[in-house]
Amino acid sequence: MKIHNLKLRIEFADAVLDGTKPFEIRENDRGYQKGDIIKYEVVDRMGLNVPHSVENHEYEITYLLHGWGLKDDWCVFGTRDVTDLNGKKHAEAGKWLRVDPGVTLGTDKYICSKCREEPWWCGVTEDVLPKYCPNCGAPMLPFVSDE
Ligand SMILES: [Zn+2]
Repeated sequence: MKIHNLKLRIEFADAVLDGTKPFEIRENDRGYQKGDIIKYEVVDRMGLNVPHSVENHEYEITYLLHGWGLKDDWCVFGTRDVTDLNGKKHAEAGKWLRVDPGVTLGTDKYICSKCREEPWWCGVTEDVLPKYCPNCGAPMLPFVSDE
């Protein structure tokens, strides 16, 4: 099992992080194998690093495919998030806790139940809370609780 550090363009970073893009099309110049681990460094079009939560995650190659219309030496592989956050498996999700109900719509404050640290999410409505905690990277359940 190898660990591959790959550059990831910023326009794909959110889709990788929220799980809607669980695949990559890459030139296979690294000898990718099923079971290998991918870590991403997010970059802009100039190749400069852009900090993003996906950099705190690890992805396992679940399936590797060559040919089938792909150029020689290129491959598609499926990925799944296997991030081990603070020794706890990725599947253990957190949720947003409403710690300070606002007096008007959109002024509630929230913290992550896993890390309980900044950032607080305020000035947003529940349906636009992030799917992952930008602080610790924990996936968040699609409902909130009052603290
Ligand atoms: Zn957190």
